[in-house]
Amino acid sequence: YSSVEITQALLSRIEQLDPVYNSFITVTPEQALAQAKAADELRAAGQAGIWTGVPMAHKDIFCTNGVLTTCGSRMLGNFVAPYDATVVSNFNAAGAVCLGKTNLDEFAMGSSNESSFYGAVKNPWDLERVPGGSSGGSAAAVAARLVPGATATDTGGSIRQPAALCGITGIKPTYGRVSRWGMIAYASSLDQGGVMTRTSEDAAMMLNVMAGFDPKDSTCVDRAVPDYTATLNDSIEGLTIGLPKEYFSADLDPAMAQQVRAAVAEFEKMGAKVKEISLPNTHLAIPVYYVIAPSECSANLSRMDGVRFGHRVADPKDINDLYKRSRSEGFGAEVKRRIMVGTYALSAGFYDAYYLKAQQVRRLIKNDFVEAFKEVDVIMGPVTPTPAFRAGEKTSDPVSMYLEDIFTIALNLAGLPGMSIPCGTVNNLPVGLQLIGNYFEEGRLLNLGHKFQ
Ligand code: GLN
Repeated sequence: YSSVEITQALLSRIEQLDPVYNSFITVTPEQALAQAKAADELRAAGQAGIWTGVPMAHKDIFCTNGVLTTCGSRMLGNFVAPYDATVVSNFNAAGAVCLGKTNLDEFAMGSSNESSFYGAVKNPWDLERVPGGSSGGSAAAVAARLVPGATATDTGGSIRQPAALCGITGIKPTYGRVSRWGMIAYASSLDQGGVMTRTSEDAAMMLNVMAGFDPKDSTCVDRAVPDYTATLNDSIEGLTIGLPKEYFSADLDPAMAQQVRAAVAEFEKMGAKVKEISLPNTHLAIPVYYVIAPSECSANLSRMDGVRFGHRVADPKDINDLYKRSRSEGFGAEVKRRIMVGTYALSAGFYDAYYLKAQQVRRLIKNDFVEAFKEVDVIMGPVTPTPAFRAGEKTSDPVSMYLEDIFTIALNLAGLPGMSIPCGTVNNLPVGLQLIGNYFEEGRLLNLGHKFQ
């Protein structure tokens, strides 16, 4: 098939099915078909690369030149960026075809995709259930076969948790591996772009395009990018897998634990060794994250003031009224909650007690991993405590929503790479296995995922 034919087929599939899933905020048929046509011309000229004409989608948190970037918020309902995020230009340069922008929790804050101003996303496995969040649109679009791969971001689990709940593969690279330039900031010390695909092999191919140094992001690491597809078939003989006892706690559904342990046993059959380990500060990850992430978001989102960016009220009385009402109208409830928590935690007199203290405890959490990686090569565990929950089940109780991130958040605080791969089902709903690697060991995680699949 030509790229134009494939693109047309997927666009019509999106048109037919996405009114139900709501996984896209914006579909861009004209731009996609133009890219596909150019790809076919390159192929005809014998100049095609591996990515030429391959369809994909971007989470609507990555800025795209000339195409709406909403970040799931009313605040950016009319925002058309005048430039592409580095991740977006990397895919464009590789010849990929972007079909559109996928739905997300507003400003990537959430674990169920119910906080998007553009409506909730449905889990293709069960339409009454959530796809996870915040990258629920990318996850649902891949799971529903609307697109073979999509970009996503993970600040505190937003790639791994929706990947797990939708039965697909998702990898969050080491902090600094992928450029954050043009990726709308939520919590800058945690945000990291990554990928969602059906297989580890596809994920390796996407990461090959995304990863790499970018002088426009001061936290992006200048370090050579390996070919992630080259090590997919490496032997795992003799590798030591650590199972943190804190990840098999009472919070974990016993049926999920069974699936995760069965998956680990498969790696043992392939020659890996298993060792129980301890990450003793795991219980502090959620409280620490919910001080640091809101603090950074309160600073990052201050630019959305109705002047430089974002929704502006029609009839402001004065500048204060303009700020106040534009922000009140533009932001949803969860975003406001976090801005208030963050502003409080950063305010004079409270900074030492909250933000500074949280940063100190963050170091303890990181040290747990540093110690663990002296003994093991990779850490495995569950991604979520339960399979996909019902829509509406946790919306009125933010703390129960925050607890959804109990196994995913610690590694963001440490900056480590993490991955979710499908490892079975419970009650016909997918279960994810989490793989946590040492810094820059994305290749190892993809290798393990590939061996398992
Ligand atoms: N669920 C977490 C939060 O709401 C993580 C979000 C994310 O990784 N973007 O902050």
